[in-house]
Amino acid sequence: MKIADIQVIRFRTTSRNYPTKYGYYYWGKEHPSVASLTKIITDDGLEGYNLGGDQATMDNVVKPLLVGENPLDREKLWQWMSQHPGFSEGLAGMIDSALWDLYGRMVGLPVHKCLGGYRERIKAYASTWPNMGKPEDYAKHAVEMKKKGYKAYKVHAYIYFNPYTWEHAPQLPGFPKADIEVCRAVREAVGPDMVLMLDPFGVYTLEESIWVGHELEKLGYYWLEHPMIETRVEAYRRLCRELDIAVCSPEHAPGGIFTRAEWVLQGASDMSRIDINYGGITGSYKHAMLCQAYGIQCEMHGGGWCNSHILGATPESTCEYFERGLLRPDLDYDKPAPYLKAICDPLDNDGNVLLPTKPGLGMEFVWDYINDNLIKD
Ligand SMILES: [Mg+2]
Repeated sequence: MKIADIQVIRFRTTSRNYPTKYGYYYWGKEHPSVASLTKIITDDGLEGYNLGGDQATMDNVVKPLLVGENPLDREKLWQWMSQHPGFSEGLAGMIDSALWDLYGRMVGLPVHKCLGGYRERIKAYASTWPNMGKPEDYAKHAVEMKKKGYKAYKVHAYIYFNPYTWEHAPQLPGFPKADIEVCRAVREAVGPDMVLMLDPFGVYTLEESIWVGHELEKLGYYWLEHPMIETRVEAYRRLCRELDIAVCSPEHAPGGIFTRAEWVLQGASDMSRIDINYGGITGSYKHAMLCQAYGIQCEMHGGGWCNSHILGATPESTCEYFERGLLRPDLDYDKPAPYLKAICDPLDNDGNVLLPTKPGLGMEFVWDYINDNLIKD
């Protein structure tokens, strides 16, 4: 079996995300946008899919490396893509995940069963949009999520945003006092038993992170995630020495599993973190296993079709939570995108996500919608 072609299908859809000039996103009115699907095709007619991709990158970078290769040689192709300067980590991760989709479709099993199944439902935390309002808005939202069955809630407070002028802003300076007011309002609203986390998205200095960490300890929060820009490893080591609350990072450090292995050795975080943009399913699973061997948690960043399979193939002691979101009061999260038959992470009444059960990554496409909105270049 050989990879014969890689095609990108582009189609019109809508989005409510807008980029700011500082590089972050905000939520607004629905507007037209373009989405894409990458399809890997073999010489005997098998197919593997993933969301995203553009044809020029496939033609110039991916196809020269992959066409003619056996799509089941995922480890070899992962090594080749990791070593190829033309592949960003995100591109390599996307293609690796599409190869897993192809294999899962071929054998008729979800990817987490191919990796080695462990769980079919995962404890979820409700993960908020940032800049969602005042402390009382977060408190109200947290209570609603508790009523839906969630046992855990993660605050994204004020990120690339000034809560005093109510304007978009650069990443630093952050606003630790305003963030802690949100965290306090949420704790007071949901009571002592709900598991709570804060993700400030790298907006603090070391001294601010120490102050915030101690405040969260008083409020009984479970983890402090990604408090500083993650290229400053020594600052993270010092932070972990200062705090009792678990520090969960790195989320965005480039270098995939290799950078994360160094963080583990350096004691730069208490819980590690990865997602498929930093190594695909192959790399994320390797990192989860490395963390397991060291006896530390590897908390998957973000939900989605690809990340969910790492959770299905690991015990709760290695990867505890599914990050469900981002959620906000004016978003119907349970409604699938118009090009997908279902969301990847339906919630049961007890705050657990039910993992995909269909073959491969588990996506089923609404081809009528995609074909009706096809962009022919
Ligand atoms: Mg995060």
